[in-house]
Amino acid sequence: MRPKVSNPYLKLPDLCYDRVNPTPLKEPTLIHTNKEVANNLGLTNEFIQSSEFVDFANGALPLEGSDNFAMCYAGHQFGFFVPRLGDGRAINIGVSNNLQMQLKGAGQTLYSRQGDGRAVVRSSVREYLMSEAMYNLGIPTTRALAIIQSKQKVYREDWEETSMVLRVSSSWVRFGTFEYFANKKKYKELEALVDYTIAESFPHLADTPNLYLKLFTEIVEKTAKLLAHWQSVGFNHGVMNTDNMSIAGLSIDYGPYAFLDDYDTNFICNHTDRDGRYSFGNQPHIAQWNLKALMIAFSPLVSIAQMEKVLLNFGTIYSKEFLHIMGEKIGIESIQERDFAFIKKMLEMLQLLQIDYTLFFRTLSHYQGDRTELLKLGLYHQPMHDWIDDYDERVEYNSFSKEVRREKMLKKNPKYVLKNYMIQEAIEGIEEGDYTLFNALFEIAQTPFSEHIEYNRWAEATPNKFKNQKLSCSS
Ligand code: AMP
Ligand code: MG
Repeated sequence: MRPKVSNPYLKLPDLCYDRVNPTPLKEPTLIHTNKEVANNLGLTNEFIQSSEFVDFANGALPLEGSDNFAMCYAGHQFGFFVPRLGDGRAINIGVSNNLQMQLKGAGQTLYSRQGDGRAVVRSSVREYLMSEAMYNLGIPTTRALAIIQSKQKVYREDWEETSMVLRVSSSWVRFGTFEYFANKKKYKELEALVDYTIAESFPHLADTPNLYLKLFTEIVEKTAKLLAHWQSVGFNHGVMNTDNMSIAGLSIDYGPYAFLDDYDTNFICNHTDRDGRYSFGNQPHIAQWNLKALMIAFSPLVSIAQMEKVLLNFGTIYSKEFLHIMGEKIGIESIQERDFAFIKKMLEMLQLLQIDYTLFFRTLSHYQGDRTELLKLGLYHQPMHDWIDDYDERVEYNSFSKEVRREKMLKKNPKYVLKNYMIQEAIEGIEEGDYTLFNALFEIAQTPFSEHIEYNRWAEATPNKFKNQKLSCSS
């Protein structure tokens, strides 16, 4: 049965969107369907297995109640304001079970500027796999239902085959969506969008006093917590422009992202980011900068002095959340503020010894007193010995046993994260018509804490040849 959808966004003033239908790709084939997401959307097995499904994922199957549109937004790109961006290649095809379905790569819209409205296979594969990986690491994120490909080509640095991802989210509203209306002094639309956002993503706030200030407060909180998650897992987004910041505190728009190889606060995954504005270590600071841009957009509706006060709490919320997550990662029962110095010392040790971030925590999870495996991770031993001396002392205060500590830590420290060299190998497989690795990575993405000994090679430190590579934005 075809899904029945609604389109609450279209109740907003006309300036907020432009009605446009997807332009399907020629002779599409299905690469993958996420059954869990299908289930969340309320789609039947019969439908996702039917021949109609590929047409649906290609934007060629009209749905009951559908009224397709692209959203309008602005944004600060690398610190500079661009008054109009918008969905240049993403088209909303309806909401089912409160999940908004959007086809990325579905052709041109009013907001495409010079772009062709398309997405190439490598960029779609990267978004499809990574959103699933982040979700299963417990990080707020958009997800995807399906990915298709076509032999139809578009030009990037070379001619490349095209693809579409049918992605889903509880919200696609961005910081930049508010900036668009604030910049144009369209305050009626701005207020309508704020009310829409409350209904969509913050319904529990309805009817509270100082509603808009409370909304801003919760956005600051959610964003600070999201950043603590990113930093704790070693995720570098790469393009934290305000148009890529979700108002609902989700990870969105996966472009040239990377999981850290060796721990390095200075790591930059985005090839075009010469100054390191979006480097790994700078991310919390940039999130705060972006919130300030949002604050300015909100200022026609809320007192800026009050919002400034709220924004000052960003650092405290971030640090508290980060400390809490790190406490769980290293198996400390009740982490205290004074443990910050201890966590900092650990991160400095990882940076100094150039140790693979993910592998360190997984190895530490198994540590019971024999230091051999931990020492193998770095060339110099003394800084590691020093830190483990402190660690041994600190975990003495736990009320649970070493064995329980290990069990807890193995649930918090993934054995696998999808590093770029792994995804690259899967993309090359697809280009040759071999989907084995793509399917394996999807399985890893869904169960990152499982042992999966058949995939052991992906749990090693990144081979030197593939470490710290940068990716271009072109996708
Ligand atoms: P991104 O870097 O993917 O977040 O995109 C930034 C802006 O450029 C957004 O407004 C996109 O919709 C737009 N854009 C990116 N790629 C294309 C494309 N191939 N065609 C049209 N618009 C695009
Ligand atoms: Mg974007």
